[in-house]
Amino acid sequence: MSAPKPDKDCLFCKIVAGDIPATIVHASDHSVAFRDVNPQAPTHVLVVPRDHYENAAETAHYAPTAVADMIATAREVAEMEGLANGYRLVFNTGAEAGQTVFHAHLHVLGGRSMQWPPG
Ligand code: 5GP
Ligand code: ZN
Repeated sequence: MSAPKPDKDCLFCKIVAGDIPATIVHASDHSVAFRDVNPQAPTHVLVVPRDHYENAAETAHYAPTAVADMIATAREVAEMEGLANGYRLVFNTGAEAGQTVFHAHLHVLGGRSMQWPPG
């Protein structure tokens, strides 16, 4: 696994830095949560680590505390959004899984019933 490389062109690094606007819904020492620009459910929030890691596994390897913080943040977002009936957490990892932004992010989806298996 390659070492994390801060990327000055990374979209989510720019959102974390405040250089690109986003609708921030929650922030902690390790994570920032903001609404997805192309929501796939009534609630669709992305939780990202403040530091740049390519995906969830790389984050877990180099910064396990940040992964725990992302999941705790997702729970707080779900509470804030009133998702008492359930919500889905997704880490797309790699292009074939649909990852398009290579800064780790946890999708928090809720507010409608969902299919399983996913497409
Ligand atoms: P992925 O496909 O990598 O798992 O998820 C990337 C997500 O980032 C997509 O759901 C996409 O809609 C979202 N996204 C892409 N560009 C932006 C942006 O500029 N702002 C926000 N808030 N979300 C974005
Ligand atoms: Zn980044």
